Amino acid sequence: MRIRTLCPHCDSHTVARTSSQLTPTFKEILYQCTNPLCGFTFVVEHVIARGLSPSAIPRPSVDIPFSQRLAQKHPMLSG
Ligand SMILES: [Zn+2]
Repeated sequence: MRIRTLCPHCDSHTVARTSSQLTPTFKEILYQCTNPLCGFTFVVEHVIARGLSPSAIPRPSVDIPFSQRLAQKHPMLSG
């Protein structure tokens, strides 16, 4: 599945030009509108919001909250 980001000004398709992985859970992606009459260029912040299933090899420095439902089912995940 490919997730598209549409231009917020003209609803045209956009292209990702560059991305910077700033932390293991946070990335910035620079997008450019493909409509030559628009030309809007913008940055999207890509954040891992919550976990749904725990990793079998968790990285100690990564702290991602789990969804409320999973935390209720497995109290040890809520930290
Ligand atoms: Zn546009």
